[in-house]
Amino acid sequence: MKLLIMGRPGAGKGTQAANIKEYYHIPHISTGDMFRAALKNQTKLGLVAKEYMDKGLLVPDEVTIGIVQERLLEDDCKEGFLLDGFPRTIVQAEALEKFLKANGIVLDAVLDINVPVDILVNRMVGRRVCKGCGATYHVEFNAPKVEGVCDVCGTKLIQRADDTYETAQNRLEVYDKQTAPLLEFYAERNLLKTVDGNQSLEKVFEDIKAVLGA
Ligand code: ADP
Ligand code: ADP
Ligand code: ZN
Repeated sequence: MKLLIMGRPGAGKGTQAANIKEYYHIPHISTGDMFRAALKNQTKLGLVAKEYMDKGLLVPDEVTIGIVQERLLEDDCKEGFLLDGFPRTIVQAEALEKFLKANGIVLDAVLDINVPVDILVNRMVGRRVCKGCGATYHVEFNAPKVEGVCDVCGTKLIQRADDTYETAQNRLEVYDKQTAPLLEFYAERNLLKTVDGNQSLEKVFEDIKAVLGA
């Protein structure tokens, strides 16, 4: 299964990606996670990315395209992969298309998790993530059993630096301007599968399995 997962910031991409990874046994490749890991390790990439992430802006295409291509060439991607948060611009989508073609890789589907814009700021501001294993929670909609502690690994939960009210607003605007045009790009290629993301976490995953025909 070779998949892309798209959707506005906060739509539930990371949450569903964790389900898809487990169910289809494919690696979950998230550019946002890659940038956050780079920052944690204080690499040059991480420090460059931080400048943009903190403002809710996109990291430049040249930087982003390179790290994704490198990752897709690793052995664990041979049988399948789930790309989350990439591509986010037409330039990235065109570069990805060229790269896949050159390497004889064919995408199976592009999932779009569709959520109305007005509920997304709440989803982002209430998001909490595990520093240890990366699991995602929400203070109201998907609360951990013990407040502030990861159910899976017991590590403390944190709030992402860009999950503030203001940055969340910026990210939604950036999505509309730079990323939304990709829906048509993939619809034209008959790859786009839209799922209603404004339902329970469980129901969204049921619908994903249904559109993927598995
Ligand atoms: P994305 O990766 O698209 O930014 P996440 O998967 O991190 O989104 O989800 C954003 C926030 O919304 C998280 O706090 C998550 O727990 C919560 N969330 C995800 N899916 C749902 C859903 N179907 N209903 C309610 N809250 C959700
Ligand atoms: P969300 O789940 O809320 O959509 P991500 O974790 O995917 O957030 O991305 C967080 C930030 O990382 C983005 O706001 C952006 O600054 C940067 N980023 C992630 N993926 C890309 C990409 N493909 N191109 C440019 N910037 C990216
Ligand atoms: Zn954890």
